[in-house]
Amino acid sequence: MRFGTKAIHAGVEPDPATGAVMTPIYQTSTYAQEAPGVHKGYEYARTQNPTRHALEQNLAAIENGTEAFCFGSGMSAMDAVMRMLNPGDEVIATNDLYGGSYRLLTKVYERFGVRSHFTDMTDPANVEALINSNTRLLWIETPTNPMLNIIDIEAVCKIARQHGILTCVDNTFASPFLQMPLDLGADIVVHSATKYLGGHSDVVLGAVIVKDEALAQQLRFLQNAVGAVPGPHDCFLVLRGIKTLHLRVERACKNAKKVAKFLAAHPKVQHVYYPGLKDHPGYMIASRQMRFYGAMVSFILQKDTVDDAMKVLSGTQIFTLAESLGGVESLIGHPASMTHASIPREERLKTGLSDSLIRLSIGVEDFEDLIEDLEQALRLV
Ligand SMILES: *Cc1c(COP(=O)(O)O)cnc(C)c1O
Repeated sequence: MRFGTKAIHAGVEPDPATGAVMTPIYQTSTYAQEAPGVHKGYEYARTQNPTRHALEQNLAAIENGTEAFCFGSGMSAMDAVMRMLNPGDEVIATNDLYGGSYRLLTKVYERFGVRSHFTDMTDPANVEALINSNTRLLWIETPTNPMLNIIDIEAVCKIARQHGILTCVDNTFASPFLQMPLDLGADIVVHSATKYLGGHSDVVLGAVIVKDEALAQQLRFLQNAVGAVPGPHDCFLVLRGIKTLHLRVERACKNAKKVAKFLAAHPKVQHVYYPGLKDHPGYMIASRQMRFYGAMVSFILQKDTVDDAMKVLSGTQIFTLAESLGGVESLIGHPASMTHASIPREERLKTGLSDSLIRLSIGVEDFEDLIEDLEQALRLV
């Protein structure tokens, strides 16, 4: 089955009780048993819920995995992966990554004796150089956030496999419609379904997808033992969102390419970061490992000052100034003071994240309106 068909049908069967075509929201905490221990496979809703189960089956199918596990947020999904490690284990992570992921690794897991190293993974040799006998996990995010660098998933996972190290790809920015990390050799995929999978900025949810039974067993245990599960209504919303994932993401990527080209040609713009532009250093790898180039665009202004950036950030009318990404509506954000404020300034500057960097999440509006909106905002500087 092809992607769009799977997105719509995988995991979704008419409800056995009523024939309802859409998966019902099973808003229950427990299930009746005929006799002690005799039941229909559902005992208690932290452990099993049919709405969540449908979403998990769908996610496993669209990521080409065998099993998926849903959590109350993207961060709790990442936390479940981290809980597979032990004190003394080490992690090597992308240096340009989601601020909350950096925070979880440094402020939470360091306290439990799990050390993280951050490096520029666009050069796989940097990863190899940091590997030691304690390295257990590589944490890969690509395209990176907010610099939109491209990491060669296949090359990095190959190095990890040679050393017996687990690899996890945060696939939030690409979505499985664009990029399938498990097919490229990764062991684990993590999502903030809050973004493209949900797609309508109305739900917070996370997921972990694997193809190996031993990993699935550990994650199933942790999901139930720790209990950071999403509610059935949130699962329903994400399941509904995924039905249009391929339509939304394709349109958003096409809009993003037009916006990136417009900005690159604009005299008040100094640099545009978008992997779909031919002069982007990751263009060739992105062309190989992604279906389109994503719908995130970052740029800095000709006069690279916070003042000018602030004028543009508060000058747009269609782009809403807000954190997050991946919804049908376009958003504009300032990583240094918003999504990435939890990363120290000197660390941010090392990755090229300057104080004036502006990040766009391109939605599925008419691109002419998006470009006109940016044009009028750029007139303010
Ligand atoms: C938003 C985001 C997360 C965290 O997900 P939540 O659902 O907000 O907890 C993790 N990684 C990336 C790349 C994100 O954009």
